[in-house]
Amino acid sequence: MATVPCPTCQRPVEWSAASPFRPFCSERCKLIDLGAWMTERRAIPGEELPQPADGEGGPPEERSRH
Ligand SMILES: [Zn+2]
Repeated sequence: MATVPCPTCQRPVEWSAASPFRPFCSERCKLIDLGAWMTERRAIPGEELPQPADGEGGPPEERSRH
């Protein structure tokens, strides 16, 4: 019986009709992997961080004076 490692948790997954989510061991792992993939695709270098509202002390670079 052939098995493949689940891409998310590395558990062996039976490669048969008994594993409807193969190569994932479960729907949960499938969704986790899909979510991670989409997050990676959306995380563009030069990130867009949420800026704190005014009055928080300014950005970190201005607060730390070497
Ligand atoms: Zn898994």
